[in-house]
Amino acid sequence: MELETVKILKNRKIAEDIYELLLYAPNIWHRVLPGQFAEIYLENGINILPRPLSICQAALGNLRLIYKTVGDGTRRLSEFREGDGIRILAPLGNGFPVDFDASYEHIVIGGGIGVVPLLRLAQTRRGDVRVFLGFRAKEQIILREDFAAATEHLRIATDDGSYGYHGNIISLVKEELADSDKPRVIYACGPKPLLRAVQSFAAKNNTLAYLSLEERMGCGFGACIGCVVKTVHGYKKVCKDGTVFLADEVIFDE
Ligand SMILES: Cc1cc2nc3c(=O)[nH]c(=O)nc-3n(C[C@H](O)[C@H](O)[C@H](O)COP(=O)(O)OP(=O)(O)OC[C@H]3O[C@@H](n4cnc5c(N)ncnc54)[C@H](O)[C@@H]3O)c2cc1C
Repeated sequence: MELETVKILKNRKIAEDIYELLLYAPNIWHRVLPGQFAEIYLENGINILPRPLSICQAALGNLRLIYKTVGDGTRRLSEFREGDGIRILAPLGNGFPVDFDASYEHIVIGGGIGVVPLLRLAQTRRGDVRVFLGFRAKEQIILREDFAAATEHLRIATDDGSYGYHGNIISLVKEELADSDKPRVIYACGPKPLLRAVQSFAAKNNTLAYLSLEERMGCGFGACIGCVVKTVHGYKKVCKDGTVFLADEVIFDE
C-alpha cells in the first residue's frame, strides 16, 4: 500500500452536488475488492487530512469514484480538472465478502451516497442479487442505470414518493421479502439509521448481514485511531478492521 499520484481522466458533475471522478490507476485497480475505499490527498492548504471515498468501480486500469460536495475538501476536489495528478492511497478497508453461494438470496441495501460501494458488489453477483436503494427524492438518485444493468431485481424508494416506492427503503425490503423463505445474506451501506434498521431486521429474521460503516477518519490505515466504533469484541477501527462488519457485532450509540 503506497501513496501514488494518479491521473484524473474525468471529474464531472452528474447530479446536484454529486460528482463522478475517474482515475487512471494501473497499479491499483486490479487489487480492489467490492466495498473498499481510497484516501484522497488534497493539497494547497485545505487540511492535511486526506478524505476517504469509496471505490465505486475498478476496471481496465481505472477507478471510478462518486462523491458529494459537503465541505471544503470535496469542493476542492470538484475543482480538479482532467489531466491533473492527484495523490491517493488505495485500496483500503476489508471490503465485502465475495464468496458466492447460489442457494442464497443476496440482498443489497443502500441509502443515499452509501449506494456507491455497493455497485461493484452487485456487479460481482450478477443475476443472483436483489438490490434495494433509498433516496430522499428523485433528484438525489444516482447510479440507477448502473445497478439496473447489474441486476433485474432493482427496487428504488424515495422518501417523498417522487420516484419508485413511496417511503422508507426498509419498509420496502420488509414487504418484498415477506413471501420468501430462501436463506439470504444482506449487505448494506448508508446513513446510521438505515444501518440500525438493517441490523434489527437481520436479527429478527436470523439473517447474516454485513454493514459497511462510515466514520470521520484520519489516516485510513489504522494508525491514528480516529475512527473507532464500539463492537461486542471491544473498540474496532472502521478504516482497518472494517469498514465492513457483521451486523450483530456492531453496537450503535443510543
Ligand atoms: C470509508 C468511507 C467512505 C466514504 N465514501 C464516500 C463516497 O463514496 N462518496 C461520498 O460522497 N462520501 C463518502 N464518504 C464521506 C466523505 O469522506 C466525506 O463527505 C468527506 O470526507 C467530507 O470532507 P469535506 O472536507 O468536504 O467536508 P468537511 O468539511 O470535513 O465536513 C463537512 C460535513 O460532512 C460531515 N462529514 C465529514 N466526513 C464524514 C464522514 N466520514 N461521515 C459522515 N459525515 C462526514 C461533517 O461532519 C460535516 O458535517 C466516505 C467516508 C468514509 C469514512
